[in-house]
Amino acid sequence: MIIQEETFISERTKKSASLFKKACEVIPGGVTANIKYFNPHPLMMEKGKGSKLFDVDGNEYIDYLLCYGALILGHGHQQVFEAVTKQMMESGTTIFGTPHTMETTMAEKLVELYPGIEMVRYTNSGLEATLLAIRTAVAYTGKEKIAKFEGHYHGGYDQVLVSVNPDIDKAGEETAPKAVGESRGLPDYYLDNTVILPFNDLEATEKILKAHAHELAGVILEPIQGGFIPADQDFMTGLRKMTEELNIVLIFDEVKTGFRISLGGAQKIYGVKPDITALGKVLGGGFPVGAIGGKKDIMMISSARGGRDILTAGAENRNKQDPLYHSGTYNGHPTILAAGLATINILEQKGTMDQLFKKTQLLRNQLEEVYKSHGLTMQTVGMGSIFNIILGDGNIKNYRDMSKSDTKLRKKIDYELLKLGVYTKPLNRYSMSTVHTEKDIQRTVAAHDEAIKRVINK
Ligand code: PMP
Repeated sequence: MIIQEETFISERTKKSASLFKKACEVIPGGVTANIKYFNPHPLMMEKGKGSKLFDVDGNEYIDYLLCYGALILGHGHQQVFEAVTKQMMESGTTIFGTPHTMETTMAEKLVELYPGIEMVRYTNSGLEATLLAIRTAVAYTGKEKIAKFEGHYHGGYDQVLVSVNPDIDKAGEETAPKAVGESRGLPDYYLDNTVILPFNDLEATEKILKAHAHELAGVILEPIQGGFIPADQDFMTGLRKMTEELNIVLIFDEVKTGFRISLGGAQKIYGVKPDITALGKVLGGGFPVGAIGGKKDIMMISSARGGRDILTAGAENRNKQDPLYHSGTYNGHPTILAAGLATINILEQKGTMDQLFKKTQLLRNQLEEVYKSHGLTMQTVGMGSIFNIILGDGNIKNYRDMSKSDTKLRKKIDYELLKLGVYTKPLNRYSMSTVHTEKDIQRTVAAHDEAIKRVINK
């Protein structure tokens, strides 16, 4: 990793630059998730409080990344801290390594909130949740392939690391997208076995699904692409009907949208029940977590019918009735479920979600005005507590529409925003928290105004 000479961030972030350089000596690229990198170097954060992040140089930022949406209550919410501490102090441990009652309490809560959830299993991340959802669909249907939509992200494993941000030149026709690998080291097998669909195009989706129905176990999608491009209602209703008719399991990946679009996710808003739902992010209250929930007859496929351990290994102990394999040392982690339950408890308080959505809409409206006042074509696209800034006109319905927007200009503005104390990782979506204030909104809007002036005047 060579840190580029030009530094976008002023003298004020020298320490970040030098500490990042040090990180690069022992961590490839200096980051442990490639998405966290940006040129010439990402900022090293040291503290968080409420809606703010503070970097190692002592600069303050209004945070709209919020750990990619996970921190819906902002940084260091007192009730979450208390719930976690209480759980550890009262139980005397961080984790039991056995079943415990909070697993049931959380599962009951998810069943209550999510129309498509009748039973629940826990994982440690959103990635693991979608992986388990897919395996469940394969086991349930006896078919082996899955279909996903172009531009949708479901975690960084081979089966779905296909056509997430494809080069349009390589991605084929808009109505019949080709599978494009997202990573080096991705065997061609996965390009051949993951069918790619065009989001918000029901007719084209139907054609592809019908052609592959005999081999498709499931269709997985972000009901709101990237957390901010909503599916059309007709598309969603049509997809549900079609997958039912074709015996294809419908999987909603609500890792981003869960608790952020409504307490019952996007499915509650659309009135569409998926067969399986994957959750993560907000569910863990800032700790690593994932879960899948779904219809009872599908979920029961992972029910253990007998104990199995290393000593029971061997062919004579296996039979076709063996459950789907699902395991994990930390699944259902009590400390994390305590944080998640405390978070949901706060979100359920009367008016909390409404206020959050109102605040988000206020910011969106004011930002749209500012860009307009500078003569820039800009629209905010989103729902609930998530949105994105798109520099371009026309309806934004999917990945191809997005790719036509002016990301170069957006990036320049984002870099200026960092200098002005607004933290959004360049080009990332905006997530709002319950603790962002009107003052934060005013400061954010003023920062955009200034950032645009600086970029335009350059
Ligand atoms: N699905 C979606 C829709 C996501 O947004 C993410 C994370 N950005 C994942 C799956 C993977 O979750 P995690 O990072 O917790 O593994």
